[in-house]
Amino acid sequence: MTAHSSPVVRFAPSPTGYLHIGNARPALLNFLYALNHGGRFVLRLDDTDRVRSTQEYADAVSEDLAWLGIEPDVFVRQSDRLALYDDAAEVLRAKGLLYPCYETPDELDRRRKRQLARGKPPIYDRAALSLTAEQRAAFEAEGRKPHWRFLLTHRTVGWTDLSRGLIEVDTATLSDPVLVRGDGTYLYTFTSVVDDLDLGITHVIRGEDHITNTAVQISLIDALDGVVPAFAHTNLLTTASGEGLSKRLGHLSLRGLREQGIEAMAVASLAVLVGSAEAVRPVASLEELAKLVDLARLSHAPAKFDEAELAGLNAKLLHGFSYGAVQKRLRLLGVEGGETFWLAVRGNLERLADAREWWQVVEGPIDPIIEDHAFTARAADLLPPEPWNATTWKSWTEALKAATGVGGRALFMPLRLALTAHDHGPELAALLPLIGGVKAAARLRGERA
Ligand code: GLU
Repeated sequence: MTAHSSPVVRFAPSPTGYLHIGNARPALLNFLYALNHGGRFVLRLDDTDRVRSTQEYADAVSEDLAWLGIEPDVFVRQSDRLALYDDAAEVLRAKGLLYPCYETPDELDRRRKRQLARGKPPIYDRAALSLTAEQRAAFEAEGRKPHWRFLLTHRTVGWTDLSRGLIEVDTATLSDPVLVRGDGTYLYTFTSVVDDLDLGITHVIRGEDHITNTAVQISLIDALDGVVPAFAHTNLLTTASGEGLSKRLGHLSLRGLREQGIEAMAVASLAVLVGSAEAVRPVASLEELAKLVDLARLSHAPAKFDEAELAGLNAKLLHGFSYGAVQKRLRLLGVEGGETFWLAVRGNLERLADAREWWQVVEGPIDPIIEDHAFTARAADLLPPEPWNATTWKSWTEALKAATGVGGRALFMPLRLALTAHDHGPELAALLPLIGGVKAAARLRGERA
């Protein structure tokens, strides 16, 4: 079997908050990679932190991904897989690669400070490795519970990162990582490796904040006799001022953006294309977006997320939507008028819900704004008989111009204010037939209609 012939990727959030646009990036990069290569996408909830993980956040992860258009092929949660971690820990213990340590956090802290004071890197000194059986028994008698560290083989661990090329880390510069806490719970680095092996993950695509974990994880994979997957460490999204995005930034959460009326594809387009080799632009479908992803051509610098850019993408996306793409959602908004209405107003929308405002203008009643009664009453008199179409506006305003000698803005603005009660908006040529003769005449005469 050729390795990686059919990729298996995963997105592995902790359900300790709502997903935000920064999480959308790895979620999408993985999903689109699978889409491009005929692979499978695993959603794994890293929920071993029982205090901070909640069912509500877990449900929200799936909902928010579904909103983006991501339906996982496989779904697992780490809290269901504890036996697997127990077994893997036993394998490491049997090989002498997982050793018990009894230092308290305070002791470790003091030791680190002493090392730093002597100008040494604060690396764990492996003191616990040389404890005798009696010393261990004495600690246990005191009531101390051991935490367990993985014995790194000091060497250079390298991998060819699909985004960054060759990366090498000397594991002698790292502390032996704690894999099991004193209370018996496992740390992410360990559970992640065990799961990646068990689920046959071929490509680990994640943020560059995990680069140092990778050297440890490769060492662990080797210790467990696993096949090392391909890694891609992608640039992170930061706020416009350069701070990391955190799960606590509520308004940038995917559900916050959805509630604000931002289109899923606007979020996806920005989350994927910002900081890539492609210009940021609105892309209408994940299939199309998938074709634009090239992990090897992502920038290596953090990418800035700009809310104004998202709003702009959202508007552009809406302006290009066909009626079929929004028909159902318009109905839910109480907007009727069919395709003619949609084509008349879409170019003026920033959010889909803005269509309601223009539907109200078409449907009425609205209070017209009349600046010059005589002028708009004259305009009402000159309205041609129905049926009206897209050319009615032109022939009517030409007739009005000929009759009054008024042209340009002085002609159009009073008509717009009277017919729509707005000083801006969609083309009147398109709106006029939708408003219709009865309402148009009434509004031009200053009546609420
Ligand atoms: N739960 C980890 C995180 O959210 C997963 C990282 C990974 O992709 O390995 O950071």
